[in-house]
Amino acid sequence: MNNPFENALVQLDKAAKIMNLDKNIHETLKYPDRVLMVSVPVQMDNGETKVFSGFRSQYNNALGPYKGGIRYHQNVSLDEVKALSFWMMVKCATVNIPMGGGKGGIIVNSKELSESELERMSRVYIQKIWRNIGSQIDVPAPDMYTTPKIMGWMLNEFEKLLGHADPGAITGKAIADGGSAGRETATAQGGVYVVRELAKKLGLKPAETTVAVQGMGNVGGFMAKILRGDGYKIVAMSDSKGGVYSENLNLEALFKHKEETGSVQNLEGTQNVTNAELLELPVDILVPAAMENQITKDNVNKIKAKVIVEMANGPTTPEADEILKQNGVVVVPDVLANAGGVATSYFEWVQNVKNEKWTEVEVFAKLEPLMIKAFDEVWETKEKYSIDLRTAAFVKAIERVASKMKH
Ligand code: GLU
Repeated sequence: MNNPFENALVQLDKAAKIMNLDKNIHETLKYPDRVLMVSVPVQMDNGETKVFSGFRSQYNNALGPYKGGIRYHQNVSLDEVKALSFWMMVKCATVNIPMGGGKGGIIVNSKELSESELERMSRVYIQKIWRNIGSQIDVPAPDMYTTPKIMGWMLNEFEKLLGHADPGAITGKAIADGGSAGRETATAQGGVYVVRELAKKLGLKPAETTVAVQGMGNVGGFMAKILRGDGYKIVAMSDSKGGVYSENLNLEALFKHKEETGSVQNLEGTQNVTNAELLELPVDILVPAAMENQITKDNVNKIKAKVIVEMANGPTTPEADEILKQNGVVVVPDVLANAGGVATSYFEWVQNVKNEKWTEVEVFAKLEPLMIKAFDEVWETKEKYSIDLRTAAFVKAIERVASKMKH
């Protein structure tokens, strides 16, 4: 069962049972408020028009404007976008920011588009959804294969259509376009704050703790570097094509090798591994920072890590979750572990709305206590009900959402 939306609903049901959720609210939360499905005709460089399919799911806005990224990927689907928007609702509520849940996407392999095609596609997508977004309505941001530059094009298109400035309508922008200091590394940094708290609870010593990171994008790449700075031993990393493993992995050499060859594989002194093999390596901490549905009932019993820190959205299926729990593996769920990104998007939104500019030091001075508080609340909820951390985060989040729902 790898339909992400079905998985999300299984997680909802599990939390609803524990917290004795009002049955009408439970029923309402099984559906997104609204899903926009749009065609995105793009004039390609050769003069021909190609039509892409785009989505924007606005799941719930009880706590504030819908909030969440836009993904460009060939596997985007209606159910994926719905699931991701549901998880955004839970994520924003877990870290207690006044934002709801949303997510968008276009079915496209953006690596096959030229920069000008990418810009035209991003602008047409905004032309199709602009009446339903805005700083007080729905605030998009980057997600897989979307960047600060793309956010800048989108905001520019949006403001042209709107007829006036509304810089808080889109976050994750470049600094020059009104973005926030720290946003680029914020997801990884937030994950590191969580790892530090967890290490205190579990008595993990960085110098004796090995880590494998799946994914080398904005999240996995920075996460590896910051964790290494904390003294952790990063022994494996991968990108979408595969990875490498070595007890003495040299991160500088690895990033340089990837830049030079376009791949991390075949780095001298390391062993090539597939993405599937990376998950099964004998490490202490596994950090999935790529796609959903990586840890499933088919590979879960081969996972040797004692701790999984979900920096990707939805990397573990509910069936695998159950087995991990039985196997004594601690899973720090996506809605907590990777929430530093959206929390900093919220800080960007606040700066835009109030016309302020915070330094990176100021941003992280706000992010750190926010993440630690969320971690403590989720940990307490886990102890209170004797449940796993994911269900605890859901319970805490859905309590907040439910208390603000109009019914
Ligand atoms: N795409 C990121 C996420 O999944 C960030 C969303 C945002 O900043 O709104 O959390």
